[in-house]
Amino acid sequence: MKKLSIIVLASIGIFGCNMAIAANNNIEQTEAQAAPSVSVDPAKDFLSQLGLSQSDIEMLYKYHRNTVMSEFRNRDNLLFGNVVPLNNTSFMPANTIGNLEVGARYHLVNWDQQSIAEFKDTLGRVVFLMNTPEFSRDFNRSLFTVKSHSSENVLIPSSYDQLKSYVNRTAENSGNHIKAYVSNSHTKTAWGTNGLIIQIEESGINAAQVAHEMMHAVGFAHDGKYTGWNDNIPYFVQTIISMNESASDICSDGHSTCRGQTIHWGQIYDSTYNHTYRPANQEAVALLGKYFNHVS
Ligand SMILES: [Zn+2]
Repeated sequence: MKKLSIIVLASIGIFGCNMAIAANNNIEQTEAQAAPSVSVDPAKDFLSQLGLSQSDIEMLYKYHRNTVMSEFRNRDNLLFGNVVPLNNTSFMPANTIGNLEVGARYHLVNWDQQSIAEFKDTLGRVVFLMNTPEFSRDFNRSLFTVKSHSSENVLIPSSYDQLKSYVNRTAENSGNHIKAYVSNSHTKTAWGTNGLIIQIEESGINAAQVAHEMMHAVGFAHDGKYTGWNDNIPYFVQTIISMNESASDICSDGHSTCRGQTIHWGQIYDSTYNHTYRPANQEAVALLGKYFNHVS
């Protein structure tokens, strides 16, 4: 093969010198244009493929290198690993909603570039967090709080491994293609629907909410016999990821399960108000705070 290449090049050298130079120029130009977005570090490229912003990538590299490397090594077998990276076809124009039910008091609009970047980074955070060792440990340890009747049409997994295999199989049935709609309303709610369909508010793109809706998007529910408690997979997963620095006080009464409206979600992490990175102190730290409480 190599020999053949040399012969071909030699032929060009003899019969088509100008053409060979033109081709070389093209190659150089392409490389120069691509250079700023291409990292030489494969593990950083992997994080970028998840959709994470450059500042998140640098931060994870600085403080959580071991987890990064373990996910990088396992990159072909990640929960939701095949739905990223998102491309532009995932950001649905408002007028393509068709007969699909629209979120209550939602006014769908077209995506702007800032919201697209925010959603990509947020989904990247969700995928990263759902593949951390802490997530699988917490999932298995507290799964008893999830009641089987909370999702009528989908069997509740009995372990993290089962969750992963179910999620990835279901995502694949939808072509691993997320369809995301955005609203400019301010109801602080979001919608996830079977078939990897998500509706979210421009002002409400955060990892805990996206994680919750991604569970709906693969079929887990808290409807039917839903009692208003966080005893179902979407709330359970949201609780593990959470916005709180402490996941242990998720219910104000100290219990592990409580009514949805009494959940204490805490503050959404905002780099404007978190000027210094605070490392996780104990196991009670929710994953979002542990991994992404940093200056962006
Ligand atoms: Zn829900």
